[in-house]
Amino acid sequence: MMEQYHALKAQAGECLLFYRMGDFFELFFDDAKVAAGVLDIALTSRGESGGESVPMCGVPVHAADGYLARLIRAGHRVAIAEQVETPDEAKARAKAEGKPSSKVLVAREIIRFVTAGTLTEDALLEPRRANRLAAVCEVRGSVGIAACDISTGRLELEECGPDGLATALSRLGAREIVAPEDWEPAPADATLRPPSDFASERGRQRLQELHQVATLDAFGDFGRAMLAAAGGLLAYLEHAGRGTMPFLLPPTINATDATMAIDEASRTSLEITATQSGERAGSLLGTVDRCVTSAGARLLAEDLSAPLARKTEIEARLALVRFFHEDPILRGDVRLALRAIPDVARALARLVADRGSPRDLGQVRDGLAQARDLHGSLSRLPDRPALLDTLLPDLTGHGALVDELSRALVPSPPTERQSGGYIASGYDHALDALRETSGNARRAIAAMEARYRQETGISALKIKHNGVLGYFIEVPARHGDALMKPDSGFTHRQTMANAVRFNSVHLHEEASRIAEAGGHALAAEEAHFEALVEAVVTAREAIARTADALARIDVAAALAERAAEGDWCAPVIEDAPCLEIVGGRHPVVEAALTKAGERFVPNDCVLNLPDGGLHRAQALPEQGRTGATSRLWLIGGPNMGGKSTFLRANALIVLLAQAGSYVPATSARIGLVDRLFSRVGASDNLARGRSTFMVEMVETATILAQATTRSFVILDEVGRGTSTYDGLALAWAVAEAIHEKNRSRCLFATHYHELARLAESCDALSLHHVRAREWRGDLVLLHEVAEGPADRSYGLAVAKLAGVPGAVIDRASTILAKLEKGREETGGLASGLGDLPLFSAAAQAQQEECDTLRDRLSGLDIDALSPREALDLLYDLKREAGES
Ligand code: ADP
Repeated sequence: MMEQYHALKAQAGECLLFYRMGDFFELFFDDAKVAAGVLDIALTSRGESGGESVPMCGVPVHAADGYLARLIRAGHRVAIAEQVETPDEAKARAKAEGKPSSKVLVAREIIRFVTAGTLTEDALLEPRRANRLAAVCEVRGSVGIAACDISTGRLELEECGPDGLATALSRLGAREIVAPEDWEPAPADATLRPPSDFASERGRQRLQELHQVATLDAFGDFGRAMLAAAGGLLAYLEHAGRGTMPFLLPPTINATDATMAIDEASRTSLEITATQSGERAGSLLGTVDRCVTSAGARLLAEDLSAPLARKTEIEARLALVRFFHEDPILRGDVRLALRAIPDVARALARLVADRGSPRDLGQVRDGLAQARDLHGSLSRLPDRPALLDTLLPDLTGHGALVDELSRALVPSPPTERQSGGYIASGYDHALDALRETSGNARRAIAAMEARYRQETGISALKIKHNGVLGYFIEVPARHGDALMKPDSGFTHRQTMANAVRFNSVHLHEEASRIAEAGGHALAAEEAHFEALVEAVVTAREAIARTADALARIDVAAALAERAAEGDWCAPVIEDAPCLEIVGGRHPVVEAALTKAGERFVPNDCVLNLPDGGLHRAQALPEQGRTGATSRLWLIGGPNMGGKSTFLRANALIVLLAQAGSYVPATSARIGLVDRLFSRVGASDNLARGRSTFMVEMVETATILAQATTRSFVILDEVGRGTSTYDGLALAWAVAEAIHEKNRSRCLFATHYHELARLAESCDALSLHHVRAREWRGDLVLLHEVAEGPADRSYGLAVAKLAGVPGAVIDRASTILAKLEKGREETGGLASGLGDLPLFSAAAQAQQEECDTLRDRLSGLDIDALSPREALDLLYDLKREAGES
């Protein structure tokens, strides 16, 4: 057996091998150790190998899905080795080969590799999230990406430069990545495959074979890198499924300039689909999602992950949201109808992949029928937006299939086929007759029980059924002897502790009738199942379009619902690179505050409006420029004042708008953004390991290299991760570079008020601050963004607010006064960056303290002190030393 095991394990490679033995999948050696650890199951051992016992653990076959899910989630891949013949077949084979039957082993084969990217089982998938597998490779300097979600059949191809790979992969959010093993820049966690899988010509052929076309022209114009990646993807799917291909729709091309580029670091920092700790709740998606179907929730996650970059497409989505926003009754009705619709896309994918069940057929039937009803009500509405009109035809057109499925299936078909019962009566007369026969036989057996009781006089006699014996007659042990008599008409089968079991000729006859009719009925149902699956598979592309259309309608209605709930507005999309957000709010922070009964303070953000926009009135005459006409806002003010929140609120509003959503603001004009960047200074992210300042600088370098005049950049306390001088110098230079070179729209939050001097040299930069007020010695944070520089940093007041002891605050005030004096004396920043006073002033303050102490000690006449005075002096010195 171990020989067979090792041969299979060699094929499984790095995958854990699930080796089928009876009712269990067993794992051996290191696989067993790994699995026992992850699954928290007992590690046992079996036999010996090389003088040592072999570690082993196992999971029951009927519960394998749950265990698989946990292994996959923990980052493992699993090869399933099944028995591919019965023990009888193995014996027959041995006989044919002239071997003793005791020596022969049931043949086993790996029937499937289960990996994160190749799942279709409902139990293993997250309903509200796409499950993508991506293949990447490079052809002559171009990187090709092929991404599919086999749980819905979507296949997307795209091409980008080597720099664009990371951003594209983070947009796609692939669960598993495959790459050629000889490609050096392959992502670190990629599954490596033979380079020959990634040949572009072979890729083209594979796609043509898959979709049974002679040319791919009808699907689009695919570059060589895309075809190579597609080849790698299809080869991997074939490998993982051991030759069975999953469901894939014809490929579509993702044009890189069709979506807003958001790199991985910005995604994480903006918490778009997950919070920094990886949860959906508390992310933008979690706060926005009001979808009533899983498919809708998946599509919304996609929309937010890849906001659009073209005005017409954004406006088409917005018009659909507006349609539902303006008519709450219609919205309610549509959402009610959608709520009942099953996940057609995933049911379809399982059916096509040959892993479907009668329940999946039922879901396709119900989904299509409900889509048709929805079509009926929506198509009667006047003034429909264009997007709805393009979706409507996809909701209908399955009449014959729905009718067939409705006639064929019972109302709620089971997930298992083994025991039949899913084909409705009246669909097939032969099947009905078979059921009639077994029904009659069952009734005959019931009648038989009553008759036997009467004939034997044993009222406790029962006719029962179990999996081992089939039907049998059972009497309590004390009546056993009576039926044992040879002329009783009963034959003994089994003696239990309390009961004795018998058979009879009549019972046997009826039982055989049931078994035979049952077997035929099962076979008939099975044949119908196959035919129905075939019908669904034939219509798969149209069904997938229906599922997509339903999801799009769900997303639009859900966004309208969210907008109504939060009093959001429809953004106006502009081509010019401007931004005018009035009364903007951070959706996640606002939701949290509302829950706590607090109010979110809305703020305006107006960038790059040559005419000054609505804010003309706020022009500061002495500066000759306003926030509105500038491109870069430098925002100062106290910690906890709301700077980060303001930055992110605006970035999220831009993102929502381009995803086609209403936005949390009173009004919003959004000039199209090609790339969105968000960076947070290092010290907020200490948990991340790698030298955080290094990370901060790598990320900042990316922005400087990639941001364009159409980009929107938010920088939060950049430069904080290093010493004051370095940090200030870097922040200064970065702000300058964005202003001069990238010329992007930018919000830059900083606690260095020295940066305010930048306004003197940068004409498109303006100064802003979050307002705070000291009231009766306490700090009041107003969370209001106002024009003009921050007057001071309020650090001490914030410390007090945070509960730092009064004595420490007092001491800090003294030190601060001295520092500020030092700054004035050395001329401060005004005399140039080299004169930054902070550190020298700090050193000077320390020096002054030492001097005072020395003076005091040297002026002391020790002999003149009374013991009491000496002791007091010691206490004083000790206290002062403790304070400093
Ligand atoms: P900073 O970046 O200036 O240190 P944050 O943006 O992190 O400040 O804000 C600190 C806290 O203040 C937030 O967690 C939030 O609770 C509150 N806050 C921020 N902005 C607002 C606002 N506009 N309205 C109400 N509360 C706010």
